[in-house]
Amino acid sequence: MDTDDQASRVLDGNVAAGPLAELFAFDPSLATAVCAGCGRAAPLATYTVYADAPALVLRCPGCSAVVLRFASERGVMRADLTGTRLLVVTLTAPEPRPAT
Ligand SMILES: [Zn+2]
Repeated sequence: MDTDDQASRVLDGNVAAGPLAELFAFDPSLATAVCAGCGRAAPLATYTVYADAPALVLRCPGCSAVVLRFASERGVMRADLTGTRLLVVTLTAPEPRPAT
């Protein structure tokens, strides 16, 4: 691949807006996060939440590391996912298994 081919494949970050809008338009209760500290995968509903901190803080139920911080003020939202190794969102319910 020459330099011209590479340059034509590098796009502005606006191109990611559509796919990322789909990613972040989900019911958070459907998400599973993998802790960057200990590697434990758990539904967000099982995380410990500290709602009275300056931001909403979610801590891992396994190692207590901060997995996610979120703040929303005056129309500006901030999400820090540094403590999340992987966020998994299943958009469709799994197919029911046939009766055996
Ligand atoms: Zn952990």
